[in-house]
Amino acid sequence: MSDRAAQAGTEAGIVIVGAGQAGAALAARLRALGHTGAVTLVGAEPVPPYQRPPLSKAYLLGDVPAERLFLRPVEFYQQNDIALRMGEAVTAIDCAARQITLSGGGRLAYDDLVLTTGSVPRRLPATIGGVLPGVFTLRDLADVDAMRPHLHAGARALVVGGGYIGLEGAAVARKLGLEVTVLEMAPRILQRVACRETSDFFRDLHHGHGVTLLESTGLQRLTGTDRVTGAVLSDGREIAADVVIVGIGIAPETALAGAAGLTLENGIATDEFGRTSAPHVWAAGDCASFPVVGGGRMRLESVQNAIDQAEAVAANLTGANRPYLPMPWFWSDQYDVKLQIAGLNAGHDRIVVRATEGALSHWYYAGDRLLAVDAMNDPRGFMVAKRLIEAGRSPDPALVADPATDLKTLLR
Ligand code: NAP
Repeated sequence: MSDRAAQAGTEAGIVIVGAGQAGAALAARLRALGHTGAVTLVGAEPVPPYQRPPLSKAYLLGDVPAERLFLRPVEFYQQNDIALRMGEAVTAIDCAARQITLSGGGRLAYDDLVLTTGSVPRRLPATIGGVLPGVFTLRDLADVDAMRPHLHAGARALVVGGGYIGLEGAAVARKLGLEVTVLEMAPRILQRVACRETSDFFRDLHHGHGVTLLESTGLQRLTGTDRVTGAVLSDGREIAADVVIVGIGIAPETALAGAAGLTLENGIATDEFGRTSAPHVWAAGDCASFPVVGGGRMRLESVQNAIDQAEAVAANLTGANRPYLPMPWFWSDQYDVKLQIAGLNAGHDRIVVRATEGALSHWYYAGDRLLAVDAMNDPRGFMVAKRLIEAGRSPDPALVADPATDLKTLLR
């Protein structure tokens, strides 16, 4: 046992702070890579690591029990000698002593520390009714458990924010028989993440299911005293609401890292290997911003990035010395539409639309270069596009747009 560990009364080793998708993937990959030292996973939530994507989909709908969300059975951690410390928040990092402090006051020594602290939902300010009973964010299991009893047929739901959280929440609320209004401050839903054509598709989809979508419309304030009863909109209109779902974006959880003096740049800044500015401290997932080839930095808010980046850090902790190269993809389920996204669309200057029977995809190009694809009920389009983007290949847009083209020929 090292001096540091002896002082803290535990065996040092790799300590992972944040037991979400990234933290769990990191611990598992360390063992898969043959790492034999101590591994400790500390998480503030009281349950073992679970999947978040179903929270705004099947779990909110009531289709799956909480246990089915767990990424791995508890026995997995026991069998792999991964110490799970659930329900314990980390309150401080002492980089010089290589120790962390836990909410209960105890300290843990580390040889290497990985921050997989994820992100926190933005909340509406209390001054405009943001903390009234009946107002919910949709980020963790406890949020959904608290919200779920309020989603009953005939109730009126107001969804603030027309991003993926808001739209997935709206789709579930409609399926459960609520009257649903979505407020989006920007001129169109999904503006931050998708092209106009994709926004148009999802606007039509939600209209078709009876959702009222108000774009270019913000919230002045929520109304109600003991609980929320409605809202005054930015145009002065007043609407009634029994329940409010807030999906106005997330921010990287950097408080712990910031207080410890780590460099922050739109998240915890890492190098291409996942190292932060402090020796022996690494970061991965939603909370981390990393350098990209060609300059600048990027922070990705997605499950796939959380897993891939965490696994890259696990490899580097065990000596791989390999830069992280993101290969982004995402998905969203709304009603009977599965949206799959490959690549990153930033910098596109045109959209190529491919429509075949029952399938639609929007291909983002910058000049002749294919950047990304949104595929709606088009798994083949998604799969082909993903492989092309990963290989750095860009098919002729005219061939993509032609419904007679067999997409697989583009891979040859
Ligand atoms: P988001 O993608 O940032 O969308 C939030 C939307 O709310 C933005 O369009 C924003 O407009 C709008 N908004 C902000 N303040 C508002 C206000 N006061 N009134 C009305 N509209 C307002 O974030 P999110 O939907 O909350 O999702 C959180 C994160 O989880 C994102 O990273 C998201 O991609 C991820 N997520 C992904 C999936 C998926 O991949 N299937 C599913 C759920 C969540 P402005 O842009 O103009 O501020």
